Amino acid sequence: MLLRHLLDVKGRDVYSVRSDASLDQAVRLLAKWDVGALVVLGPERELMGILSERDVARRLVEDGHGALEKQVSGVMTRDVVTCPSTMAVTEVMTLMTERRIRHVPVIDDGCLVGLVSIGDVVKSRIVELEHDRRDLLEYVGAR
Ligand code: AMP
Repeated sequence: MLLRHLLDVKGRDVYSVRSDASLDQAVRLLAKWDVGALVVLGPERELMGILSERDVARRLVEDGHGALEKQVSGVMTRDVVTCPSTMAVTEVMTLMTERRIRHVPVIDDGCLVGLVSIGDVVKSRIVELEHDRRDLLEYVGAR
């Protein structure tokens, strides 16, 4: 299965925050939307980075409560790993495992078209494997 098929089911909304927002505002958005990461956009809505709850936790440990006043741009990861919607879900799983990340923005022709989390990928694999299992049972007549 390709990522674009996963996005057809999951949807293409991407939760984002501006790079000049405070960490406090970003944490509130993570809580409001109940997600683990936000894509960080610049003034022209260009992709500038990604901010995960892990970045927030790390910064709170390093700087204490004052960290919440910091700008998102100073806390986010700038070197964003992305992938095209033509990538297979299994390839994204490998990418996430190797890079130790749980969120990957999907970019087609320079445009942000979605975001997949490790939860989306695992869910889609389970559905796919369950279909395969049913097909095999049907094939051997053991239903
Ligand atoms: P995560 O496991 O996705 O919550 O993030 C773990 C760390 O990797 C954090 O420092 C994130 O900012 C960073 N990170 C998450 N997703 C990406 C990504 N797609 N590209 C680069 N870094 C990322």
